[in-house]
Amino acid sequence: MKRKIAILGSTGSIGTQTLDVIRQHRDLFEVELLSARSSTGLLIRQALEFDAAHVVICDEMRYQEVADALQPHGTKVWAGVDSLCDLAGMDGVDIVVGAMVGFSGLRPTLAALRAGKVVALANKETLVAAGSVVTRTAREHGGVILPVDSEHSAIFQCLLAAGENPVERVHLTASGGPFRTWERQRIAGATAAQALKHPNWDMGAKVTIDSATMMNKGFEVIEARWLFDLKPEQIHVVIHPESVIHSMVEFVDGAVIAQLGCPDMREPIGFALSFPQRLTVGNKKLDFAALGGLSFEEPDMSRFPCLGLAFEALRRGGNAPCALNAANEVAVAAYLKDLISFYDIAKIGERALSGLNFAADPSLDDIFETNREVAAIADGYIH
Ligand code: MG
Repeated sequence: MKRKIAILGSTGSIGTQTLDVIRQHRDLFEVELLSARSSTGLLIRQALEFDAAHVVICDEMRYQEVADALQPHGTKVWAGVDSLCDLAGMDGVDIVVGAMVGFSGLRPTLAALRAGKVVALANKETLVAAGSVVTRTAREHGGVILPVDSEHSAIFQCLLAAGENPVERVHLTASGGPFRTWERQRIAGATAAQALKHPNWDMGAKVTIDSATMMNKGFEVIEARWLFDLKPEQIHVVIHPESVIHSMVEFVDGAVIAQLGCPDMREPIGFALSFPQRLTVGNKKLDFAALGGLSFEEPDMSRFPCLGLAFEALRRGGNAPCALNAANEVAVAAYLKDLISFYDIAKIGERALSGLNFAADPSLDDIFETNREVAAIADGYIH
């Protein structure tokens, strides 16, 4: 039996790499649904290549173009995020790949979990903004979240070897991004073009900027809290510039289990799609002698204040991570347009936390309200 896959966000970095894994294993997988926000050309090509049964274009203005190209081939074409939410939970889909960027992925992810689907989740902002709601929804409806983020896939893989033993700590590795060795003053003047040059990972623009500020690692700390039910003090971030160890789990006896590999997102994607089996995914294999050594450093919170902000948001809990995420989405979009400077991203996040209308146990409505409110305020700082 082929596994039927729905990809929410098929034209982005994770979406295209997911399709690359599927392309190598057409005997194992079938593409049931593809969706994109606005990249019609690529979406149409993907739907034709993989003979997708359903396609959703979220930007409703672009519906006709997609419909004209695909309906003659028998593909059902839909428009808008509401359609995506309806289809994310449809019968016949075995795995929903959550590859959308940012808060926009929350509603479709919840719809899939409510339908009891297996969600291979790359869209970390969903867990950052609404971790308690998302994990509760999964529990109540029999939905399963499999991590696609490389660090969390690594922890998940390490835990398979843990048996019943409780986790003492996890060590989330971080490459340190393109500015790891830069002085603070030089970082302050860094442009988006410089921040987009990630040394190890090939990723979309949003997550690459988040990697440069280390907000990405901060969000991954929050993501780990929800995926593995950890306390903030159990999550340790260590800089590991080679990105070979994808993360580690430590036990009470000091034993540490690590997961290693060449940095290539197709490995965690493949593992989530085929779990518990492993697949060939066309990546490079590690050559330890050629590597020579692996190095580690403590993260520097003064040069990368976003990491500290994320820890603060996690400790405060409630809707604080949602607020930080909302402010960050607005700030990163502005930074990508050269409207603000690098450290303005952290300043905008800091203001979101200090001015927060705190809700200790936010409902889904509270989460949407926080997101809307904080994004509007952050937007006000910029324009
Ligand atoms: Mg990651």
